[in-house]
Amino acid sequence: MIAENYHTHTYRCHHASGEDRDYVEAAIKAGFRVLGFSDHVPYPFDDGYCSSIRMSLAETEGYVQSLLDLRQEYRRDIDIKIGFEAEYFPKHFSKLLKHLSDYPIDYLILGQHFSMDESSGIYFGRATTDPAILTAYVDQVIEGMETGAFTYLAHPDLINFPHVEDDGTTRPNTRYLSEMRRLCEAAKRLSMPLEINLCGYCDRRNYPSDLFFSIAGEIGNDVLIGCDAHHPKQLLDAYSIHGAEQLAKRCGVSLMDHLTLRSPFEAMK
Ligand SMILES: [Zn+2]
Ligand SMILES: [Zn+2]
Repeated sequence: MIAENYHTHTYRCHHASGEDRDYVEAAIKAGFRVLGFSDHVPYPFDDGYCSSIRMSLAETEGYVQSLLDLRQEYRRDIDIKIGFEAEYFPKHFSKLLKHLSDYPIDYLILGQHFSMDESSGIYFGRATTDPAILTAYVDQVIEGMETGAFTYLAHPDLINFPHVEDDGTTRPNTRYLSEMRRLCEAAKRLSMPLEINLCGYCDRRNYPSDLFFSIAGEIGNDVLIGCDAHHPKQLLDAYSIHGAEQLAKRCGVSLMDHLTLRSPFEAMK
């Protein structure tokens, strides 16, 4: 059983459900000591683009206030942290930090779902055999980690690139290996923990990946489990947690038992 989970969404992102309180009560029932909320961050796009997968800028206030109230109400049962899951979009990132700095935000996690920008970029979770997309993913993740604004990297193995060579064998794809090694080495250098993402299990996605975490195991990265809950009952999914623990064991990674949060605003100073 894990004691902390920092990857939790709310209904505000339009693809999660349940009241904020239901997530808190599920987490208490599951025995978590810490529950971190990290809903998809509202991004200040300046081209009029309106995202359908994240809260609006105007909803930030209500999100933070709801979690502050719940933190106070449930303070004897659980430690609630307030965060966001954010992509690193270079063009808009300083505007994002400026917007968030008006609120008591404990942490950000990096979840690089799109290249360059959500409106013009491509979704990294879509299957591709294009090595340029693989490299773009790793470049953008490293640049994001280097900002110093993030506490950890969510689903580092999101990129959906073939793991084996296209020659009828099961030989690992050398390009995948070398790019993921580059990512893990950068994470190690920057002391950035990597997440085994449980949402991949419930949706049968291409992650979490054994090959990826065996590279992380070799390099000695810090690794933790994140529920990525889009529904309160996912916090009670002991089966997926067990699966992730088994994966960690197979890949030779040891799971962290406590995460130290990094203020997103330290790097701005
Ligand atoms: Zn989501
Ligand atoms: Zn998420």
